[in-house]
Amino acid sequence: MFGFSRWAALATALANTAPGQRHPDLLTTPTELAALLRAHDEPEPVEVDAADLRDALAAREAFNGVFEAASEEALAERLNAMLASSARPRLAAHAGVPLHLHVDAPGSSWGGWLAASGAMGLALLVAEHGVGVLGRCAAGDCRDALLRVGPGPARRFCGATCASRVRVAAHRAAAQGRSGSPAAP
Ligand SMILES: [Zn+2]
Repeated sequence: MFGFSRWAALATALANTAPGQRHPDLLTTPTELAALLRAHDEPEPVEVDAADLRDALAAREAFNGVFEAASEEALAERLNAMLASSARPRLAAHAGVPLHLHVDAPGSSWGGWLAASGAMGLALLVAEHGVGVLGRCAAGDCRDALLRVGPGPARRFCGATCASRVRVAAHRAAAQGRSGSPAAP
């Protein structure tokens, strides 16, 4: 639960708070950042201030750059730039939290923690599964970042909502094509 998969999921969720065609900016207050962290099982105390938010927004931009990288070289370069700010890995035991790994510099803001941990999470996933593990939703009006982990065919959509929206639109277009075709004489 406190492994690198959670870091990668957090990095992806953070990237997807950026404003897009389907939603406005979802990360504009420290409260929203705290909610994002809690939604990914970050144990209390989750106390977030304006500096944390500022650093998280910088990390968000960097993560979106990683997901948009056009080549393996660009992807490595962007993740390496983020990893450069991480620290020597160390196991930590906070009261009430299972033993877990820290790769952020001691005293990092929440944003710094997200950048260092998320970059490590994504780097480990890419090294394990290949660059195809990082994807974008196939819905043209969404394009949210997604992780293609787990068995089965590669994920195309960020979720069921996008998958069904695209399917319904395709059916409609096909039906319209049929009814709009010239009638046989
Ligand atoms: Zn989507």
